Amino acid sequence: MIGIFGGTFDPVHSGHLRIALELMQELPLNEVRFIPCHRPPHRSEPVASPQHRVKMLRLAIADQPSFVVDERELERPGLSYMVDTLDSLRLSSGDKPLCLILGMDAFISLDTWHRWTQLIELSHIVVACRPEVDDKPAAAVAALLDTCREFDPQALQQRPYGKILMLPVTQLEISATRIRALIKDNKSPRYLIPEDVWKYIKKESLYL
Ligand code: ATP
Repeated sequence: MIGIFGGTFDPVHSGHLRIALELMQELPLNEVRFIPCHRPPHRSEPVASPQHRVKMLRLAIADQPSFVVDERELERPGLSYMVDTLDSLRLSSGDKPLCLILGMDAFISLDTWHRWTQLIELSHIVVACRPEVDDKPAAAVAALLDTCREFDPQALQQRPYGKILMLPVTQLEISATRIRALIKDNKSPRYLIPEDVWKYIKKESLYL
C-alpha cells in the first residue's frame, strides 16, 4: 500500500516527517511518496523554488528507506491538482491500494478541491487527526465520510480505493510558516526541522 503525501514543503519539517512515519507504521504502508506541489490552487506561491524544496525533501528523507520524493507535480504545467496526480499514480500502480494522506485542516474543506468527488474513486483517504478533537467537516464532506468511513486499517489493504480512515497521530505544533518567520527574524528553527535541511537553508540563504 502506497501513501501519498502532498504539500508545499516550504520547508519540510518534523511535523510532516513524524506523520508520515506514524502512518507508515500504523497502516502499514510499504512506501510514502512526498509530492511537492508546483503551483498550489488554494494558496500563495511557495517562497522557495521547486528545486530548493525538492533538495530539502531529499535531505530530510535520506536515511529513511521507503520514504520517496515524487516530482510529478513539478513536471506538470498549470495548477497542481491532486486529482490529476492521483490519476497518474493510479495508471502506474494498477490495482495497488493508494492512500491519500491529509491533515484534518485539509480534510474538512475537501469539497473546495478540484473534482473532489473523484479523489475517493482513485485512492483511500487517511486523515491524520488529533486525538479527541472533533473538527467538523463541511456538510458535503461529512456525507462522504458517512458513506465511506472505515475503522479497521487492515480493510484498506483489501481494495484499491474508496475508504476513509481517521487515524489519531501525535500532533507537533510545527508549521512551515512559523519556521520561515523564525528564520526571517534571525532566530534558529533548529530541532523543528532536520539538521541537514537547516544546514541547506543556511548555505543557500533561504527565507531571509
Ligand atoms: P505552511 O505553514 O506554509 O502552510 P505547512 O507546515 O502546513 O505549511 P504543507 O507543506 O503546506 O506544510 O503541509 C502539507 C500537509 O502536511 C498538509 O496536509 C498539512 O495539513 C500537513 N501538516 C503540516 N504540518 C503539520 C503538522 N505539524 N502536523 C500534522 N500535519 C501537518
